[in-house]
Amino acid sequence: MHKKKLFVANWKMNMTTQESLAWCVTHKNELQKSSSQIVICPSFTALARAGEIFKDTGIAVGAQSCCEHEKGPFTGQIAAQDLAEIGCSYVIAGHSEERALGVTNEIVARKMVTILKAGMTPIVCIGEPQTIYDAKTTTNFLTKQLAPLLAVTDQGAALCIAYEPLWAIGSGIMPSLETLKTIFALLHKKAPKATLLYGGSVNKENIASLQSIPYINGFLVGGASLNFDEFNLIIS
Ligand code: PEP
Repeated sequence: MHKKKLFVANWKMNMTTQESLAWCVTHKNELQKSSSQIVICPSFTALARAGEIFKDTGIAVGAQSCCEHEKGPFTGQIAAQDLAEIGCSYVIAGHSEERALGVTNEIVARKMVTILKAGMTPIVCIGEPQTIYDAKTTTNFLTKQLAPLLAVTDQGAALCIAYEPLWAIGSGIMPSLETLKTIFALLHKKAPKATLLYGGSVNKENIASLQSIPYINGFLVGGASLNFDEFNLIIS
């Protein structure tokens, strides 16, 4: 588990390569002052150069996905080993936006295996849809979703697990602090060796209250990570 709090910026497909690199160059010095571990996840085309910009700064670069196969005839896919070679140390696996395009939980587990084999840390995303939350069956849902993922390593060792309720992503709403306490206690019980992250509408207003929840070791931040001033307030 990370000793420092971990903040992962998931830029999705929101910035071009040039915009991403300009962000990294402009804010590198300020980011470096943070006592937290920062991971920047731009689009694939920006990864290698972002890695060079952040070389020797302690700021890590992560990919937003990778192929579940190590190599072979998979046109358009990107291998975990390739990402490791260009300097990535983290890869997001099974983000809900990726799952929505047909990536199953079994594929996510295979992605985790290739990411670990390439020497990087998987940031595996889990989370329930609104209907499950409304039916109060979230813990049951997460237990089932976690089972094949936790079979990959012993008690979640070497994994970051990001709990991201689907209905909280990009919506400006999130579970109550009481609900999050219950969920993170469950996640810690199931994966005591994992670094546990929360994601879903994290911003500068709610970060302080989220920090107080036991077992949350960091955050996966989407929209609020695009604006440096807001992201800087979140990480500090
Ligand atoms: C995400 O997509 O992983 C995410 C957490 O997005 P947002 O912070 O915008 O809700």
